[in-house]
Amino acid sequence: MILVPFSWRSLLLVLFLTFIHSASVEGTCGYSSCPKTKDGYINVHLVPHSHDDVGWLKTVDQYYYGDNNKIQLGAVQYTLDSVVSELQKSPDRRFIYVESAFFWRWWTNQDAEMQGIVTRLVNNGQLEFILGGWVMNDEACSHYNSIIDQMTLGLRFLNDTFGQCARPRVAWQIDPFGHSREQASLFAQMGFDGLFFGRLDYQDKEFRKQNHDMEMIWDGSPNNLGNASWLFTGALYNGYNPPDGYCFDIFCEDDPINDDPKLSGYNLEEKVNNFINIAQEWAEPYDTGHVLMTMGSDFQYMAAHTWYKNLDKLIKYVNRKQISNSSRVNVLYSTPSCYLKEVHRSKRPLSVKKDDFFPYASDPHAFWTGYFSSRPTLKYFVQKANNFLQVCKQLAVGAFNGHPSQEVISKVRDFSEPVGIAQHHDAVSGTAKQHVTDDYSLRLTVGMKSCEKVVDEAFRKLQRTSPSEDQESNEFPRSFSTGLGTTYEFCHLLNISVCTASETMNDFVVSIYNPLARDLHNTYIRIPVSSPLWDVQGQSGLIPSQIVNIPQPVLGIPGRRSKALYELVFPVESLPGLSLSNFQVTRNTTEHVHSLKIKSQLKAIKKGGRIIHSSTSKLAASANLREDFMIKNSNGLAIVFDSLTGMLKSVIKGSVEVPVQQNFYFYLGMAGDNSKFEKRASGAYIFRPNTTESQPSPITERVFSYQVYKGSHVTEVHQVFTEWISQVIRLYDKTDLVEFEWMIGPVPVEDNYGKEIITRYSTGIPTNGVFFTDANGRQLVKRKRDTRATWPYKKHENVSGNYYPVNSRILISSNEDLSQDGLTLAVLNDRSQGGTSMNDGEIELMLHRRLLFDDAFGVGEPLNETAFGTGLVARGKHWLLLAGEGTGVSISKHREVAQNIFMDKMMGFADVSLLESTEYSFMRNAVSTRNPDLSSRNTVVSGLTQVLPANVHLLTLEPVSPTQFLLRLEHFYEKGEDPVSSKPVTISLEDLKKALPSVKSIRETTLGGNQWIQDMNRFDWIPRIQQDDNNHHTKVVDGSIVLNPMEIKTFLVFT
Ligand SMILES: [Zn+2]
Repeated sequence: MILVPFSWRSLLLVLFLTFIHSASVEGTCGYSSCPKTKDGYINVHLVPHSHDDVGWLKTVDQYYYGDNNKIQLGAVQYTLDSVVSELQKSPDRRFIYVESAFFWRWWTNQDAEMQGIVTRLVNNGQLEFILGGWVMNDEACSHYNSIIDQMTLGLRFLNDTFGQCARPRVAWQIDPFGHSREQASLFAQMGFDGLFFGRLDYQDKEFRKQNHDMEMIWDGSPNNLGNASWLFTGALYNGYNPPDGYCFDIFCEDDPINDDPKLSGYNLEEKVNNFINIAQEWAEPYDTGHVLMTMGSDFQYMAAHTWYKNLDKLIKYVNRKQISNSSRVNVLYSTPSCYLKEVHRSKRPLSVKKDDFFPYASDPHAFWTGYFSSRPTLKYFVQKANNFLQVCKQLAVGAFNGHPSQEVISKVRDFSEPVGIAQHHDAVSGTAKQHVTDDYSLRLTVGMKSCEKVVDEAFRKLQRTSPSEDQESNEFPRSFSTGLGTTYEFCHLLNISVCTASETMNDFVVSIYNPLARDLHNTYIRIPVSSPLWDVQGQSGLIPSQIVNIPQPVLGIPGRRSKALYELVFPVESLPGLSLSNFQVTRNTTEHVHSLKIKSQLKAIKKGGRIIHSSTSKLAASANLREDFMIKNSNGLAIVFDSLTGMLKSVIKGSVEVPVQQNFYFYLGMAGDNSKFEKRASGAYIFRPNTTESQPSPITERVFSYQVYKGSHVTEVHQVFTEWISQVIRLYDKTDLVEFEWMIGPVPVEDNYGKEIITRYSTGIPTNGVFFTDANGRQLVKRKRDTRATWPYKKHENVSGNYYPVNSRILISSNEDLSQDGLTLAVLNDRSQGGTSMNDGEIELMLHRRLLFDDAFGVGEPLNETAFGTGLVARGKHWLLLAGEGTGVSISKHREVAQNIFMDKMMGFADVSLLESTEYSFMRNAVSTRNPDLSSRNTVVSGLTQVLPANVHLLTLEPVSPTQFLLRLEHFYEKGEDPVSSKPVTISLEDLKKALPSVKSIRETTLGGNQWIQDMNRFDWIPRIQQDDNNHHTKVVDGSIVLNPMEIKTFLVFT
């Protein structure tokens, strides 16, 4: 069944092609178009392919067009031109194409005749789309929300363009540097039959080769989804490259097959015999009589005939040997899905893998764990871009009553594309060249501007009081096309306390949108301002606010252009889900000081290291006795500082005090020329400290200076550690979180040593080497120091071999089983970082890296980021959450907190006079009376917050056409994590329909939104050892949707 082919690519031509061709060719593409193989032979599946990075050494457009060839020869347009021409010369020839971002660029430039040719090649299986995502996303630093979105963007483009013959059956992650279990689970839910990848730890690979375990069932969500998350997974023999001597690209140095005995250089016999030997060697660990041979590499097939001419000969002459019975090797043009079909047919029992493929090491001293933290500001930008994109998508559906115009949809699309590109394995990973990184940032910025227009219009529409007026104005206002400015400003530099709008206006409205489908309670708003006296009006009158000084180091950030010297802080009791709430902020002249600066005493005290169970008041008393100082809030959370050093000393929650020392350290990056393994340098990919010691050097033993600002809403300790490291430790009044806002840079390198800056939270919690890190912001994966779960690990790098990606959180607990009670410490972050626990009771996260050597994996530049003429300064946040045993906080609380972070509320700032000049009477009245009726908390999707239980996240609300949108509901707890929240939930379909805007009908699809769920029919696999094989994906029955832990359901909604 073809999914309705309508989205942003709704050009008439596309529609025409989709309707004409895809239905008529059913049965000739997909598995039924696979070539015949020979039983009893080694079947070598030659897979012609090109690995086209969506930006790396060149920008995505340079790679597409072929600019800047002195950096790297790469021009995807010629690859596609050339391949299409070669495929037409023989029906046996095959090619796979992977990156939709490139294919889309090429396709839109072709005339109708060429599009017809290509459609025929797709429909007969010669040109097969594999993976189909907009990009081949990184698996360590990308968030699941963004992975799903970028896959959906590509998969739906293919469906819109070609229909079902273009639906990829196989995921193809041949280059990412390590593989995530959550990614596997998501692929399974997208309906993929299998996954192939190229990179796994060299020791793991050797072990798997020996044990004939190169192919396996990956249980992507053990304990949660059962075999609904099983994914056949194959590790490729030679990465994604051809065997030595058989690279026939025009840029390769290998000799072509010369089959003319009259000519010198005749090498046919040698080439054929060598190939037969290689085929036998490659096939050996796979045990099925089939082997996949990747015939291609980076940016190849620009002159595709050199490949096909030689592969034609190879097939002809190797297979000719069968006649004389001198070979049992059968060579054929094939694709990964055709290979997979044969593996499936073999019914070979497979091992089941339940952990992941992190970290990846390519040799004893090359752990690819540096990129978990490389380019911290880009990583932050990518996370915040997703935040804004989700707001934009939701509003494009909700504020336009389910019928956004095509113009609104293309504006959303203008941002979806760069956010998709940013997930590429050389983008968010921080492993592209600097000029390419700048291009990613530029693309995000431009896309964001496009979405700002949608959000601005939505915010203004939501100010209207009369719903009937709303319905009549589905048209986009003219100001969009005339390029007039927007009413609202969206401040994307709040992380460095910059917001031009709030700094320059004396009377403005802050409209705050909460993109969560649940109310946000006791949240705090921070607004940069240039003077200290302000009044804040909320729905029920004046809200007592507080002024906090912006720390001096922040004011001095290079390139920061701002008048703001303070931040205005005010509490909001409740921000309703999916709603816009208004606040009016007015400059006041009355003197009232909000924050009290406290001078701290610096006296020697003795240190404690034990976990003390006691009452808070006693602890407070004991803190006073020790002459430490303590800050506490009304949630019973307190932080104790050592007055002498100015450092954090312990955290108290409920009846528990945990010593928590936090400090900054650095590793010196290994310098080296990479001439051999021992000389490997630390670089953009590789983390390699120049010591095998697990103890990095502290930046300082005590802070250089600190100030405490105390107020009724927040108390802050501003610490300055050194000239280039400072931090604010912040305790809001009604919260269970301690906030750490760190600032690092410019990292000094005048001593010619690169440095990698980390922070450590050291506690007395007994952890036995165990810690937990998230997978793409979703499942938690258990880690054990110096241990690999499925193979004997020989340790060569003490620290970097223990680093794991931390996309959203890292946890330690006194109980190795998180479903059991235990004292648990979670640190959540605002961007992806590398993390570990090098000592029991300790959490370590890498914040910034500045290095002076390249690590020789291709990027060709040291990771030495500068901005505004000096080393890059990065500012970011950690949130510390103490939970479990005696704290009164549930261990699973990190789930909710992580969501609040990645789906953060979005503020828009508008001058009152500007709003007044528009026709929104509500706001005009509000302003003229000076007693604003700010109670209009306009809900975008009325009622949805009531329909969705607290453990269900509205993952996606995204327009795909003026009459269709995508909806994703996600159970965001794991099984057993929480006695209540981990239970399956039931949602009434009728209630859901009523709660959504203008719903006519609703239909479930696969996770990628490109196939009806009932058409999903994945291969079954036979596990070597019997597993609990319950399929936990539940069908929509009797008008109810059941969501099991970690399950995501995707719907196409027709309006
Ligand atoms: Zn790549």
